[in-house]
Amino acid sequence: MMTAMKMRILLLIACVALIRPSASISLRAQGRGRGPAQGVQPIQQVKPGLYMVAGAGANSLVRVTNAGVILMDTKLPGDQNYNDLVGQIKTVTDQPVKFVIVTHHHADHTGNTGKFIEAGAQVLGHENLKRNLETYQNNPLPAQPNLTYPGSEYVVKLGGVEVQVHHFGRSHTSGDSIVYYPDLKVVALSDALTTGTTGPLIDYAGVSGGGSALEWKQVLNRVLALDFDAAIPGNGPVLTKADVQAFKMKFDTVMDRAAALVRSGVPKDQLLMQLKTDDIGWAPRIPNVDAFYNELSGITAGKAYKFEKVADGVFYATAAGSMVTGSNNVAVVGDRDVLVVDTGTSPAAARAFVEDLKLVTQKPVRFVVNTHFHYDHTDGNQVYAGKADIIAHDYVKYAIEKLDVLHREPYQTSQLTNVPARIDTLKKRIADETNAQQKMALERQLAVAQQGWEELKEIKPTPPNVTYSKKKVVDLGGREVQLLFLGRGHTNGDTVVYLPKEKIVCTGDLMESQIAYMGDAQFDEWVKTLEALKKMDWETDLPGHGAPFKDKALITAFQGYLTDLMKQGAELRGQGRTAEQTAQQVDLTKYQTSFPQIQGSGADVRGVRRLYQWMDEKARK
Ligand SMILES: [Zn+2]
Ligand SMILES: [Zn+2]
Repeated sequence: MMTAMKMRILLLIACVALIRPSASISLRAQGRGRGPAQGVQPIQQVKPGLYMVAGAGANSLVRVTNAGVILMDTKLPGDQNYNDLVGQIKTVTDQPVKFVIVTHHHADHTGNTGKFIEAGAQVLGHENLKRNLETYQNNPLPAQPNLTYPGSEYVVKLGGVEVQVHHFGRSHTSGDSIVYYPDLKVVALSDALTTGTTGPLIDYAGVSGGGSALEWKQVLNRVLALDFDAAIPGNGPVLTKADVQAFKMKFDTVMDRAAALVRSGVPKDQLLMQLKTDDIGWAPRIPNVDAFYNELSGITAGKAYKFEKVADGVFYATAAGSMVTGSNNVAVVGDRDVLVVDTGTSPAAARAFVEDLKLVTQKPVRFVVNTHFHYDHTDGNQVYAGKADIIAHDYVKYAIEKLDVLHREPYQTSQLTNVPARIDTLKKRIADETNAQQKMALERQLAVAQQGWEELKEIKPTPPNVTYSKKKVVDLGGREVQLLFLGRGHTNGDTVVYLPKEKIVCTGDLMESQIAYMGDAQFDEWVKTLEALKKMDWETDLPGHGAPFKDKALITAFQGYLTDLMKQGAELRGQGRTAEQTAQQVDLTKYQTSFPQIQGSGADVRGVRRLYQWMDEKARK
């Protein structure tokens, strides 16, 4: 028992170590391990008119018609493999290869695409296969097919024979084709089906996030809905429908176990080791554990943003770290349209968001909501102008049009002062850093900061084109979104975005999971507005900064912070302290348990200056 367990772990470690460096290396290594060592194997009949050629990469299928051959997959690159494959085909037919289907971009399937095109064949692959080849690391790089299909199906007809090419979704890669021979009741799953002790490999490299554990389950469902009695895996012998059913059972079991581990909080580097597979007979091969972990935890990682699925069609978007993005955004997907909450800190951030959003939905962004006027929520507006309605409270339009937002707080300090200061600090730290790895990390941060600074130059403050004063309802097709003004607080025009059915609120900076900026605050009204927020029927708050939270006690704690700051501010001012002195002397450390970023006494000086101004305004009334 003990030894079996140990052995399994050792095997897993060996497997992970082997495939870690990069997917392409591992895939080639695997190709070598099973394929070229044995070379092209003798052709064997699967059914009358359909033959299989194993070896030298993946299984190839030969469908003979009286008008030419329809071939599936072209083996690892090389003259010998090509000649041997063509030679084997010649033993069963004189017909030339007219049509070739390549099932995904890996070289053990596409290696001789170029040679078949030269010989006059049409070679078909999914649109995503073509895009995956553009970034595929392999030498030699397989040639592009000369025919691609978008969407989910392509039907090949030759000599009275029909072959259906299906893209049922992402599985082994994002460009997989399943090939179905309806008259023969045979389906070829390529590497979406493995045999023996070889586990399924999820190649997360490539477009649309690459392969997918979750979509793979659906792909197998769609395959099993077909009428077939023989199934061809990428490598190994011809299988039955029962074999595919058994594989699906095991696949689902392993992925459900992995998802349960992720949910239980198992750290990323422990995930594969803790995954029980000894009763399955194989372990999944995961070259990119980060991507696997993200997928199972409902996170889709784009270039600039990560999307966390909060409910069906509701995504919380946070920075991936490669660029300066500003606030956290929310995407709400209806049957027809997408609504986006906040636009980030620059047009570049908004463009990156729109690009990354395609990973989770293909529907168009028709509505954008600004939760308030601050730069980190609105400076991407210009990217959406003319393409989507930009909706906000009346005050947001007023503020962006009248307040000269690029020459006042919070932009003044947060961007114009702090960014150059941060760049200088990073440069000094890089000069002083002796550890090469630390130095590289700092250089990356510097590059992101410098790029972020450049991206500010493009900003043209763009007000909303649709405004409201109390409440506005937006219909996305089958999904209602309410925009609510509950009262003044963080600014004079904060919107709460409410999804009544899903019981979700997006609160911008009216309520963050950390201490919000207070430079435009209406302190006493803010406490009241938060009370109204607490009274609403919701279960999840998606804030403008920080992380989603469910516990309304966090709001109570923030109300306490505000009330305490008003009280201590009034007292210290009464003792003759300036705003700057008060900002140093207030003690709000008792809220540290709720807001861990409170590191000691003091508060943001811009908030305290605003507190003094606010006290003057109150006194004048
Ligand atoms: Zn493959
Ligand atoms: Zn903000």
